[in-house]
Amino acid sequence: MNYSGCVMDGLLHNNAKRPLISFEFFPPKTAKGEERFWEALEGLAPYRPDFISVTYGAGGGDRENTGRLVCQVQEKLGLPAMAHLTCIGEDQAVLERMLDHYRDNGITHILALRGDRSDRMAPDALEKGAFQSARQLTAFIRRRHPDFRIGVAAYPEVHPEAASPEADLAYFQDKIRVGADFAITQFFYENAALYRFTAANRSAGVTVPIIPGIMPITDFKQIKRFADLCGAVLPDWLVTRLAEAREDVEAMQRIGIQVAVEQCRDLLRQGVPGLHFFTLNRSDVTSAILDGLGLKPG
Ligand SMILES: Cc1cc2nc3c(=O)[nH]c(=O)nc-3n(C[C@H](O)[C@H](O)[C@H](O)COP(=O)(O)OP(=O)(O)OC[C@H]3O[C@@H](n4cnc5c(N)ncnc54)[C@H](O)[C@@H]3O)c2cc1C
Repeated sequence: MNYSGCVMDGLLHNNAKRPLISFEFFPPKTAKGEERFWEALEGLAPYRPDFISVTYGAGGGDRENTGRLVCQVQEKLGLPAMAHLTCIGEDQAVLERMLDHYRDNGITHILALRGDRSDRMAPDALEKGAFQSARQLTAFIRRRHPDFRIGVAAYPEVHPEAASPEADLAYFQDKIRVGADFAITQFFYENAALYRFTAANRSAGVTVPIIPGIMPITDFKQIKRFADLCGAVLPDWLVTRLAEAREDVEAMQRIGIQVAVEQCRDLLRQGVPGLHFFTLNRSDVTSAILDGLGLKPG
């Protein structure tokens, strides 16, 4: 099955009926995890996502799993799939092999990323890889596979490694200039950050769709850890609201879903091109949010 062009068609022809919806999954490490992966996908498939994306463990840890699962999602579920690809520490030959594998299996959407250093990597992994940034990887993919649809990451609240917000913005625009077709953002809870980021890009002539990444909260400690890692802000109003749940897991989930529904409603009212959900490989929370938005299956 080849879905060439469909994500962008969805974006370009996105009519008032429905926003673009996409779901992000990570490649599980165990057989039990893989069972849950497919169960979650089957739970979310009736919402007719415009695409499913599968992450890639920077440094190649999950390389084979990502390569296999992306193709299986598209083949088995008949849903367009997008492969994440990171370049940190990777040889050019490995990246070429992955890209050709996707082309040969009808996968035409790639999220081009640098990735982060991890404990599993050599300290000089970034320098040793063929490319040191997502900008270089994007330019490389665009040259090698002119027909691919390439997405890149965007940071409405600024990437923690950025020298300044202005430098981050200029660099993001560079990623678009060298060949990215669309962007998916890091998660955030202050929508104003996305509106400012989008407006700054529009006034600089950047027209590509910028799709907000939505991270539902089900566990405060987990979200705090994620936010600390990626520089996302947990605003006081959110921390106060989550504190109402105390140690009650169900209450936390209920509040997390309400917060996400309110966030998505506001984003849709402001005309974002779509919503990309970080599902953490579960269907219950994302489906509750979609139901809350009136985007029920069928
Ligand atoms: C939607 C989404 C999906 C993701 N999926 C994955 C995944 O599957 N696997 C994974 O490992 N990680 C993933 N990540 C995390 C991502 O790899 C990290 O955020 C990483 O720190 C940066 O990757 P990047 O592609 O944004 O890097 P880059 O765009 O290369 O750079 C990150 C930041 O560094 C600065 N920078 C870099 N080069 C320059 C330059 N030349 N000049 C000025 N500033 C520069 C900029 O501030 C830039 O925003 C994802 C992130 C998002 C938002």
